[in-house]
Amino acid sequence: MIVVMKAGAAPEELQEVVKRIEELGYRAHVMYGVERQVIGCLGDERGKHQLQSLELLRGVERVMPILSPYKLAGTELQKEPTVIKVGEDCIFGGGHFAVIAGPCSVESEEQIVLSAKLVKQSGANALRGGAFKPRSSTYSFQGLGEQGLKFLQTAKKETGLPIVTEIVDHHDLDLVVEYADVLQVGARNMQNYALLRSLGSAGKPVLLKRGLSATVEELLLAAEYILAAGNPAVILCERGIRTYETATRNTLDLNAIPAVRARSHLPIIFDPSHGTGVWRYVSAMAKAGLAAGADGMIVEVHPDPATALSDGGQSLKPKVFEALMAEMEPIAAAVGKKLATRAATEGRSRRP
Ligand code: PEP
Ligand code: MN
Repeated sequence: MIVVMKAGAAPEELQEVVKRIEELGYRAHVMYGVERQVIGCLGDERGKHQLQSLELLRGVERVMPILSPYKLAGTELQKEPTVIKVGEDCIFGGGHFAVIAGPCSVESEEQIVLSAKLVKQSGANALRGGAFKPRSSTYSFQGLGEQGLKFLQTAKKETGLPIVTEIVDHHDLDLVVEYADVLQVGARNMQNYALLRSLGSAGKPVLLKRGLSATVEELLLAAEYILAAGNPAVILCERGIRTYETATRNTLDLNAIPAVRARSHLPIIFDPSHGTGVWRYVSAMAKAGLAAGADGMIVEVHPDPATALSDGGQSLKPKVFEALMAEMEPIAAAVGKKLATRAATEGRSRRP
């Protein structure tokens, strides 16, 4: 339920309503608007009729149900888009297009440090690299674990790029939080509710990838677990869904970008690497996702894709990534997004 306070309601009246909501066994989520305050009552739906009585309290204008099943991720309680700032130059939302680039997995210190330097040169805003890998086969490379996190830390020290890395198990939370600037939840874990709940107290933004066969509604319901557990910083990611098509690894569902935008205030980015599975298709889809209005992308770039321990076939060579960033510039300008390319960061234009 939502409690809408009267315009100009006194702070004590608001406090009284919050107190009563909590007495009824709900969590009060206060949204401070310019004119009036709105309070979301979060908790077991079964007792919601009791909340209607709040209408009798001083300062309350009306009490009404939140119609959306994702109460915090939806737009009923919060209309303004959420902007998530990870570093000085890594901003999701608010007209920025943030680029997270790097290899699928951290393979060695040299590999991740070199990757970081190369993607930074081309204008990437954050470094990706998995230390814990959720692989479809138990016999595939599973990542370097803590050692991989330490290598990421070195790459961050050398370049200043914030780190986006995956967490696969809630038992690893304290460890991964120590090194990551953004915690990635992979497609295979989108509905791992123990993991989602644990991220409520992470104190760092979460990049939540859409499950292989999840609907947009299920993605938003998964985000709701993290928000309701106390972490307001969730970045959603369309990474391709499984369809009958076999020409590509997944089908990048760019429809999800406007569909999420219409339903949620959270930033939405996309992953053209897992979305296609084929490096030759990545640049075209990256440009399409930017044109579709996404708040950023996460893309796989490897210094030598032929030797990659995972996802080499969908990883861009650094030169291809550099060219892509330059090609994205005019599209970003056309759709009114700020993109930090090499040319932009060096304060000069690529074109004469
Ligand atoms: C990844 O980003 O390397 C990854 C495993 O992605 P997804 O969870 O989308 O498959
Ligand atoms: Mn990968």
